[in-house]
Amino acid sequence: MMKTISEILSALGIPLDKVEGKGLTVTSPVDGETIATVEIAGTEAVDAVIAQSKIAFEAWRAVPAPKRGELVRLFGNKLREHKETLAALVTLECGKIYQEGLGEVQEMIDICDFAVGLSRQLYGLTIASERPGHRMMETWHPLGPVAIISAFNFPVAVWSWNSALALVCGNSVIWKPSEKTPLTAIACQHLFEQSAIEFGEAPEYLSQLVIGTADVGEQLTKDKRIPLVSATGSTAMGRKVGPVVAERFGRTILELGGNNAIIVCPSADIDMALRAIVFGAVGTCGQRCTSTRRLYVHESIYDSVVPALKRAYSSVAIGNPLDEKHLVGPLIDEQAYTQMQNALALSAQQGGKLVGGERVLTDQFPHAFYVQPALVELADAATVQTETFAPILYVQPYTELTDAIARQNDVPQGLSSAIFTTDVREAELFTSAMGSDCGIANVNIGTSGAEIGGAFGGEKETGGGRESGSDAWKAYMRRATNTINYSRELPLAQGIEFNL
Ligand code: NAD
Repeated sequence: MMKTISEILSALGIPLDKVEGKGLTVTSPVDGETIATVEIAGTEAVDAVIAQSKIAFEAWRAVPAPKRGELVRLFGNKLREHKETLAALVTLECGKIYQEGLGEVQEMIDICDFAVGLSRQLYGLTIASERPGHRMMETWHPLGPVAIISAFNFPVAVWSWNSALALVCGNSVIWKPSEKTPLTAIACQHLFEQSAIEFGEAPEYLSQLVIGTADVGEQLTKDKRIPLVSATGSTAMGRKVGPVVAERFGRTILELGGNNAIIVCPSADIDMALRAIVFGAVGTCGQRCTSTRRLYVHESIYDSVVPALKRAYSSVAIGNPLDEKHLVGPLIDEQAYTQMQNALALSAQQGGKLVGGERVLTDQFPHAFYVQPALVELADAATVQTETFAPILYVQPYTELTDAIARQNDVPQGLSSAIFTTDVREAELFTSAMGSDCGIANVNIGTSGAEIGGAFGGEKETGGGRESGSDAWKAYMRRATNTINYSRELPLAQGIEFNL
């Protein structure tokens, strides 16, 4: 596996001058060292990108959808070719372990495959008309330039979920990656451009990248030429983006914070539950939108599950994520570490009993932020309302399943949830209308690690957006209802008489 930035960039064929600009300093969370500086897009540059994207859209929308799928197929193949290298870059830039980096690139490949199939299935309905000699149908058309604003923790997959669908739907795309992870974005853009050359018929500027901080994102959200803004990040970000886009009657797909819980019932397969809980809570160092943050364990098994969990926590290998023996890498930066410590201090004030949470490996990595994942046992009634983007798992016992479900739902966010049970009544209740209120409700699977085939997203302060599989593609298109009169009469709907 390649471990240095210069090795990785040269394997991907990216010229070094792209990462030796002035402006944004890129720091690796692995050791806290600077690995690149990249140019930030100014206001005029962003404006030009939007204008170019509009022109590209006007050409691309006329290309038949299955042909558009061919470009995405080529891009998927390019990702297959560079999977290991891109995964190493993901690890180096955002700190997730290499296995998860590989998983993230695989997710990109999967969504490309899905989008290729979809390019022949952008179906509309045919609807019975009430008028003789008439036919009604729905047609789906592309929207225009789609802005994709992404978060640091899935630096490449989120873009691909959006762009693969947006492109087969006939849109152009503009990507504003997290300011913490611009290198992976530069790499993806480079691979996409190579695929576009191979394809031969893509308009110039079909997919573009604008690097910068929140103000670059804000410029995209305000611009009327962009009919759809797909924004992934914190609820605080969505609270700003949503009204700005709505004010100009644009559309959004908001994929925001989660506060995900697992319920462990008395009949659960405990070994399986323990593995799912530990992966969900400590994987990606607790920095997944779907990370497990709360655990409700039935009182009859609480005293065996919690000690077993503590034992599992103490054996998790923490360290350099590029080294495959480690299962937990670093937090993204010092700010994330401070937020974690603040949340732990607050739960201690609320009477929580804490294990873990301390900073580790400071001798080896004095400028990086590795932590022992934390487990906090909370008093009965307490709920945890905010998402702290760090490995903290709050544990509480429960007596009645209905009460556990109510507590699970009693947070502002509604992304992912899970129940571990072998009792069909409990499983069905959890997935029913009286059960979990989240966009994702799993049985005997943890909260994180969704497949691309399903629609991904959550309710309430998670934003309500859906991306990826199922019919999420419809958000990237506009629907037209067409009524076609093939008769020689002009009957009006609802039988209205209007005799001239
Ligand atoms: P963040 O909100 O700090 O930043 C996300 C992106 O939004 C960045 O590109 C940032 O520059 C941009 N941004 C910030 N303010 C903006 C504004 N006013 N206008 C336009 N753009 C703006 O989030 P982060 O720290 O990078 O990521 C972590 C958060 O993302 C967590 O809350 C996590 O749950 C969430 N997340 C959600 C999903 C999901 O699918 N629901 C997926 C991944 C991450």
